[in-house]
Amino acid sequence: MGNLAAQVIIYNNSSKTDKPFTYLIEDRMKDNIQEGMRVAVPFGVGNRIIQGIVVRIFEWKDKTKNLKCIADALDFEPILSKNMIELSLWMRENYLCSYLDAFHLVMPPGDFKEIRTVLNVNNVSLKNLTKEEEKIVGYINQKGKCYLDDVKKFMDHENANKIINNLKKKNIVYNTLEIETKINKKLEKYISLSSNQSKDDILKDISSRGKKQIEVVNYLYKKKGAFIKNLMEDTKASYQTIKALADKGLIKVTETEVFRNVIKSDISPYKRFKLTPEQLKCFNTILDDINKNGSFLIHGVTGSGKTEIYLQIIEEMIKAGKDTIVLVPEISLTPQTIERFVGRFGSNVAVLHSKLSYGERFDEWRKIKEGKVKIAIGARSAVFAPFNNLGLIIIDEEHETSYKSGMNPKYSAYEVARKRCDMEGSSLILGTATPSVETYNSVLNGEIKLFVLKKRINNKKMPVMDIIDMREELNNGNNSIFSRKLYKEIEENLKEGKQTILFLNRRGYSTFVSCRKCGYVIKCKSCDITMTYHIQENKLKCHYCGKEMIAPKICPKCGSNYIKYFGIGTQKVEEQVKKYFPKASVERMDTDTVTKKGSHERIFGRMKRGETDILIGTQMISKGLDFPNVTLVGIIAADTSLNLPDYRSSERTFQLLTQVAGRAGRGDFEGRVIVQTYNPEHFSIQMAKDYNYEGFFDREILLRKEFEFPPFTNILSIIVYGKEKEQVINVSKDIHSEIIKNLELIYDYNLIRNIYGPNPALIEKIKDNYRWQILFKCSDEDLFQLKDIIRRVCINNRDDKKYRGVKFNIDINPSSIL
Ligand code: ADP
Ligand code: ZN
Ligand code: ZN
Repeated sequence: MGNLAAQVIIYNNSSKTDKPFTYLIEDRMKDNIQEGMRVAVPFGVGNRIIQGIVVRIFEWKDKTKNLKCIADALDFEPILSKNMIELSLWMRENYLCSYLDAFHLVMPPGDFKEIRTVLNVNNVSLKNLTKEEEKIVGYINQKGKCYLDDVKKFMDHENANKIINNLKKKNIVYNTLEIETKINKKLEKYISLSSNQSKDDILKDISSRGKKQIEVVNYLYKKKGAFIKNLMEDTKASYQTIKALADKGLIKVTETEVFRNVIKSDISPYKRFKLTPEQLKCFNTILDDINKNGSFLIHGVTGSGKTEIYLQIIEEMIKAGKDTIVLVPEISLTPQTIERFVGRFGSNVAVLHSKLSYGERFDEWRKIKEGKVKIAIGARSAVFAPFNNLGLIIIDEEHETSYKSGMNPKYSAYEVARKRCDMEGSSLILGTATPSVETYNSVLNGEIKLFVLKKRINNKKMPVMDIIDMREELNNGNNSIFSRKLYKEIEENLKEGKQTILFLNRRGYSTFVSCRKCGYVIKCKSCDITMTYHIQENKLKCHYCGKEMIAPKICPKCGSNYIKYFGIGTQKVEEQVKKYFPKASVERMDTDTVTKKGSHERIFGRMKRGETDILIGTQMISKGLDFPNVTLVGIIAADTSLNLPDYRSSERTFQLLTQVAGRAGRGDFEGRVIVQTYNPEHFSIQMAKDYNYEGFFDREILLRKEFEFPPFTNILSIIVYGKEKEQVINVSKDIHSEIIKNLELIYDYNLIRNIYGPNPALIEKIKDNYRWQILFKCSDEDLFQLKDIIRRVCINNRDDKKYRGVKFNIDINPSSIL
């Protein structure tokens, strides 16, 4: 047999090293190196040893070329499966990112240089060991827990891997992964009794007046030991009491690691429902085809029982020994959502979301990788959950823009999910009340199988939507933020003791500040964006970069005192509500009020217990919330999303109105929705009013076709950005002409006709960076060619001298072109 070589992606963030490097695998290492393992390799002229990951192993026949050899294997088992390697390579190709960016997503969370393999000895009899095996077992036992690299050093033996492997086969040694971070271990004070004496003996040392101390000893005697927190909670003992016992030497205090538990332990079981005929039909049909690698869309109004269908299908997957990934938008990853999955499946669930620390995320990742759970629920990046036997991916609220990543690789979780399903033969279920135009188009093309759930569970009615023309309010002399109708309905609701939700998609107090004399509008100095007034701090803030300034009393330009605050944000709504309804208890939920950990849950809890009469909020309250006592939803301004200069603005508006309306009337009482707008005739508002998705789609798809927008074309956006305006303009012109030159070489004039720009981006400056944009529209086939050219022009040259100081942001079918 010939020699083996490996392609290795090395951990170095320069464009020059953004390619696979080939290394020879020496014979002695053959058994230790597999695809998906991390290795140490010599690199550069100095042969500095650096880390990398093996993405391919192949036979090396070329004897003429001198290759460097892999220095060592850093893993005992591959940390990436073959499929995950393939997925990363596909992402790099598809989303025009670097190898490292692509691999970063499938690797364990945290800094993968710090992942180490830990070896442990099982509690079994140790007979018939070879000398070397004995030596290793002895070493591990002596250390208690020990790292693979330490064993290797200790053995100073090239066959360490082989010996450990044998021990593993004999079920004597087992291995797991660990990550070293500052927050790695969570230590807490653990209290136990100091000696094994009988209880009475211990109690002899306590005077009979020390009642609490006696109680603590009894407690510890019964429990054998407890974390100080639990001890103090359960016995109501003070810190002094515990200290007194410790001073007497009766108890000992140690620091013990608590296993991070992301999921609360006191979640009550979530009752399983008997499916309705509508649900059952959907369930049965999907189940019949579940092993056929298909795609399904459950188009069901909010509250139609989609989640219950997911839960019961997952149950079947578990019976079949298969794993499921459930994606939900980050803002829907509420305790309520998690509780339903954990309440049904208990410790079979791993939860992944951005609020977890690296350590916590690593623990969840490991549970999945080691097969300890069957279900992973999380936001976008949970699509990379490293299951080995994936049977199903569910994407709830499929239309949400947060499924498209804004960072490299700028992947779409839907596309990645589809790719994973194709590689692993799994099925994909999408669920939503308002399918994205692209998805619904795929349904009509026969690529996705459709199920419609028309009714809410228990035939609860969808709330009635009332559209209020705010121009008319103004004509009738009402210039408050509430229409007369909304005001009356809130009043009524308060009287009846029902809850109200008021929705506005903008936080802050007023959205722009301008001078009525000279027309000056205050914009952020670093961004081309108006600043928002925040009343509590009396400051103007930029919602892009966070810059703040004291709210001015006179115009910074002309010095007049005609400075005025325009546009309304949630703070103003709160102020007005309190003014008009002084007796109501009012709460606001937006990014400004939920910054502290747990504040989300607290607001949520007060709402659930009925302590809040009126909840005001942004998108954050538009989904996932299920409060039976909410009977009125007011949408303060439906126009905020409609007026955005983006081809998706009608779609967004339709989705938002439908979602927000879905918060009303979920309990035993019918719901009402009041929509305030300056565009009452707009079709997305009219169709939303009638819950007519098909009607909306039919209109929208014609517009998309007419103006050549997705799904009829792909949009590729390049934004050139940097601190020097001149340079940004020059570079964008430069790459524009380079791309055209390349296209001319292959005579693709059709593509050339569909290039727009370079133009200043709609937001010309963000965080002190000037931004110029080039847009392309092209078919799937042309996209392939275009990507190839862009890779050559922008990516392979990104460290070129002439591009110094600028960066490229390349996005394929971005969620917004702003
Ligand atoms: P969706 O996910 O479509 O919004 P859910 O699955 O959350 O709908 O269901 C809405 C409500 O109806 C939930 O409170 C759920 O517990 C309940 N529910 C779902 N299916 C059934 C059923 N078959 N019988 C009774 N109640 C159900
Ligand atoms: Zn700014
Ligand atoms: Zn002025």
